[in-house]
This record gives sequence, C-alpha cells and structure tokens, in this order.
Amino acid sequence: MSASDVRPAVPEWLRVPADPNDLAEAVWPPACARTSDGVLTVGGVSATELAERFGTPLYVLDQDAVIGQARRVRRAFAAAAERHGTTARVYYASKAFLSTEVVRWVTGEGLAVDVATGGELAVALAAGADPGLIGLHGNNKSRLELARAVELGVGSVIVDSLIEIDRLAEIAAARGAVQPVLVRVNSGVHAETHDFLATAHEDQKFGFALADADEVVARIRDLPSLRFLGLHCHIGSQIFGTAGFAESASRLVEVHARLLAGGEAPVLNLGGGFGIAYTSVDDPTDIEDLADGIVDAVARECVAHGVALPTLAFEPGRAIVGRAGITLYEVGTTKSVRVSADLERLYVSVDGGMSDNARPALYGADYSARLAGRISAAPPTLARVVGRHCESGDIVVDAEYLPADTAPGDLLAVPATGAYCFSLASNYNYVPRPPVVAVSDGTARIIVRGETIDDLLARDAGIPTEGAE
Ligand SMILES: *Cc1c(COP(=O)(O)O)cnc(C)c1O
Repeated sequence: MSASDVRPAVPEWLRVPADPNDLAEAVWPPACARTSDGVLTVGGVSATELAERFGTPLYVLDQDAVIGQARRVRRAFAAAAERHGTTARVYYASKAFLSTEVVRWVTGEGLAVDVATGGELAVALAAGADPGLIGLHGNNKSRLELARAVELGVGSVIVDSLIEIDRLAEIAAARGAVQPVLVRVNSGVHAETHDFLATAHEDQKFGFALADADEVVARIRDLPSLRFLGLHCHIGSQIFGTAGFAESASRLVEVHARLLAGGEAPVLNLGGGFGIAYTSVDDPTDIEDLADGIVDAVARECVAHGVALPTLAFEPGRAIVGRAGITLYEVGTTKSVRVSADLERLYVSVDGGMSDNARPALYGADYSARLAGRISAAPPTLARVVGRHCESGDIVVDAEYLPADTAPGDLLAVPATGAYCFSLASNYNYVPRPPVVAVSDGTARIIVRGETIDDLLARDAGIPTEGAE
C-alpha cells in the first residue's frame, strides 16, 4: 500500500457545516426543499410519504429535473455549434440510468440514445426510441447484437476493433445493408475531475490508437457495406473544466482533417464525461461554458487545419440524470467509534449500501447525506454512513457531518445518486434491488418496481416451483 492509498481519517476538503441540515445548492435536485417542520421534499413529495408508501431503500428521480437538464444540455451544445455554423447532436449515455420512462423523457427533449449491449438496446426500443437515433457502443458486441443493430437500422455503430469491423461488414453485406460507423480512438488524453493526463501510448481496452486511425478508416472505406461517419473519442468521466476536452479535440481534429483527403467524415463525436457536484465543495463548470469551451476548441483546430467543422456529437450520461436522483434510507443502528485519542466517528448503518450504490466501494467516490424526516438542532458530528453488507468497504458516505442525535428510525437522504447507482446495483448478500420512484408536481409513481425475495429465489434452479413435477 502506498502512502497515497491511506485516506486521512477526515478528508481535507470536508468542512464542518454551520448547519448540518442545509441542502447544498448544486448537489440536491433543483426543486428540493424542506417543509416548515423540516421534512425534505423532492418534486413536491415529502420524504416521509415516499418512505411510507414505497419503503426504503428507495431511489427517487425528479422527473422535471431530468427533463430540464436534458433540454439545457441539448440547447447548450446546439447554441455553441450554431455559433460556428454547424450542428450538434446529444446522445444520452443510457448506462448512467436506463428505464423506458427515462428514455421517453430524454428523447422527448430531442436527445438521441447511446447503448452498449443488447439489453440496453432492448430497453431503448421498448421505450419507442428511433433506431436511427441510437448509437451502439462496446468493445465486444456479439454477432447477435451487431445483426440486430443492422436489422433495426441503428444510426451508428461505434466500432472498436478490426475483427468487429470485418464481422459487421459481413453481417451488413449479407443483409444488403450499408451500416454507418464511427471509429473509436484513444486521443491519449485521460481526464479525471480537475486534472488530465496526456500520453502517447495507450494500455486500455477501448478503441484504436490514434496513429492507426488512417489504416482503420481506409479499411472501412474499402468495405461497401460500411459507411464511415467519423471519429469517436471518450476521455473519461466526472470531468470538470474544458482543458482535457480541448487537448483531446486538438489531437482528434488533426487526424480528422487528414482523413478528409480520402473521403467524407461528416461527424466528430467527443463523448461524454461532464462532471456533477457530489459534495458541497464540488464546483462543476456550467454546461453552457463547457459546451462553448469544447466547441470553440474544435472550431479553432478546424480553422488551423483548413477544414470545415463537422457535425458534432456528445454523449453525457451523469450530467443528465446524476443530480436528479436521491436515495432514501432508514437508519437501523448507530455506534460511536474512537478513531484516535482526539477523534470519534459516528457510524450510521442504513438499510442499503454497496448493493444500491457501488461507487464508493468501486471508485472511492464521495457522497454527502442529510436527515430527511426532520431537522435537528444537535451539533454536527463526524459520521460515516455504512450499508448492511458483509464487507467493511460497504460505505455509502465516507465522511459527512450529521446532527449528533442521528438515531435509529431516522430517514437519511443521499443526493446526486441519479447516475451509476441503479445501473450498477447488485444482489450482493441476496438483497433485493430497490424500486425507482419518479416524482413530479407533488405526485410519486413507480417507474421500476423493486425486487422481492421471490424474484431472487425464482432464479435458483434447485427450488421446486409450485405445480412442477
Ligand atoms: C460512459 C460513457 C459515456 C457517458 O459518461 P458520463 O460520465 O456519464 O457522461 C459516454 N460515452 C461513452 C463511450 C461511455 O462509455
């Protein structure tokens, strides 16, 4: 273990809040509030009502927040592109949160949809998404998935290997179809939050080396059943600022300009990865500023290389749904643990954990939390919100100041759980996955039902089913 792997007992960024009941503005859904008696409301529905009707843990998604953000992101990129005389298409990266309702909300705002598996494709289709406005990703799409994409007329397949290119060409040729494709490349830029790292060589599974792009595109252009649309690059996730995107765009446009010598390349897809606030100290760049900064950078490079701006494409996931979701838990037990001579930590155990939010365990991701059923006048105390799973790394919120009287029976809300929580959920310890409830205008309804123990037992082939021999 290196020194950097050892987390301090209290993270440097964590501040003692003046009021441990406050709702940090950028972190909670825009319409979150507290009633006069202190109960948290989201979409006009109180947390206590939600917990009573649907139980805990519970994923709550603010429908208007998702729709509003989809609109805002689409408009931001459209406006930025228009200023440079081109257009932009925004694909919702559905792996962030996927259900038919959410697909309808975002496609209703004019977004296209990215999927990465046959399962995600099936949900998008069940929602009525236009196959022509679907992008299919993945480094190991099956033949069946590729055939289905061709059969449906999926708008673009983002190809990731030479083997896949030949496979897809063969499938399309057999159907007498011409499949449009983008080529996923590595720009060598990796961005994470505030910093980016640019390398010349890549050692990861996705995409082609930028240096090989000419050869790969020439191969595609030789195949009459494929149509080359352009390059695709996704530099990372939870990125703040435009520097990483600008550096990546500079490297991509150089190759894009060169490819135009051999034929058309009408599209340039710069991926997603736009960051959101998980705690009060996160300060993500406004999407309008991001869109302007990124599109300006692409435009500058196009001018430098003497080529027209292509149609631009972007693939936000987290930036569309992340802030719209909160998770409600009930506190089951608490215990005070002496960390050192002068530090005690209140461990707050909730009725969910790494099965409904894997990100802290997977990535060391930080979250925040607040009491949802009441406010408290007790002073803030250092707390760690942990789950119910058999794993000491089962942490929901690593470090947060909660009212010192936080106790069993309290409702706890964790904000910014709209992205990569439901979609990464598991049945670890045979815990059924929670339902997802959409709230809007004071009403709540289930958009994905919760699992039951019977759902889980139904998969065990060793349990005789009723009526079976
Ligand atoms: C995951 C992913 C995205 C979305 O990333 P966010 O961080 O949610 O915006 C976009 N494009 C590709 C190719 C991805 O794999």
